Amino acid sequence: MAAGKASVFIGLDLGGTDLKYGLVGPNGKILVSRKIRARTDVGQKVLVEQLRSAARELLSIASEKKWRVGRIGVGSPGAVNFETGKVFGDSPNIPGWEGVNLKKSLRMAGIPVYADNDANCVALAELLFGAARGSKSALCVTVGTGIGGGLILDGKVYRGSSFSAGEIGHTTVVFGGKECACGNRGCLEKYASVSALIDAAKGRGYANVQALTDSAKKEEQPAVELIDRQAAYLGAGLASAINLINPEEIVLGGGFVDAYPPLLKLVENEIRQRAFPAALLTLKVVKARLGNEAGVVGAAFLGSK
Ligand SMILES: [Zn+2]
Repeated sequence: MAAGKASVFIGLDLGGTDLKYGLVGPNGKILVSRKIRARTDVGQKVLVEQLRSAARELLSIASEKKWRVGRIGVGSPGAVNFETGKVFGDSPNIPGWEGVNLKKSLRMAGIPVYADNDANCVALAELLFGAARGSKSALCVTVGTGIGGGLILDGKVYRGSSFSAGEIGHTTVVFGGKECACGNRGCLEKYASVSALIDAAKGRGYANVQALTDSAKKEEQPAVELIDRQAAYLGAGLASAINLINPEEIVLGGGFVDAYPPLLKLVENEIRQRAFPAALLTLKVVKARLGNEAGVVGAAFLGSK
């Protein structure tokens, strides 16, 4: 890349366990990639300093290579005010994170800074470079410890009136069901996240997700039943969202979708049985394409669309 001609972008993806960060080229390719354990247990200050030092490290790499850094973007759990950069909703994964101003914290070298919720970063990455490329409307859902959702409307990330659109994981699927950290009961993520699946699987004698998926691949019970049930909850929650927004695409991602590919079809079947028929005419249910890199790539492109 010639000096000064093209920009590279810094993307920081803060999760409950790791901080992933990297330099991303204008075509969405990660040029430099790093991962460290996020210090989420010792208060705001230390974690903010981790973010700052990650950004400084990347700035110095870019400077060595004579790349111009056009933007710093950060994705974080919890609710993030996209305009001010302030985290205003606490995340169970990072206690005490509420109140930190990510934009102010990462201001350095006169470079524009953007901050958003992590699921929105994933959706943006899939929209620009992945499975939702060219889509006018899509719901990108990541099935992991929780269930994250990012919504694309009119070809852009739709953040909602108070920056919390797309929270599909907190759709009620069981009236009066299990208590959720959000304050509701019976939320989708209490039944269909990987954590929920592990809990159910342990109760039925499986040591971990690997043991469960191995058994399900051999079509053994109760593995098949457990995963069918998870897919049914997912499909039911998604069908409600589909009825509301009539998207072109549902993009399903997360480690478990990769570990057990038949899940995609199971979820789609459930959706097709439940959603309003007219909303299914153009619907595509597809697998996320950017995997683990989506958070970093999306963060690097915040503010570009
Ligand atoms: Zn909830």
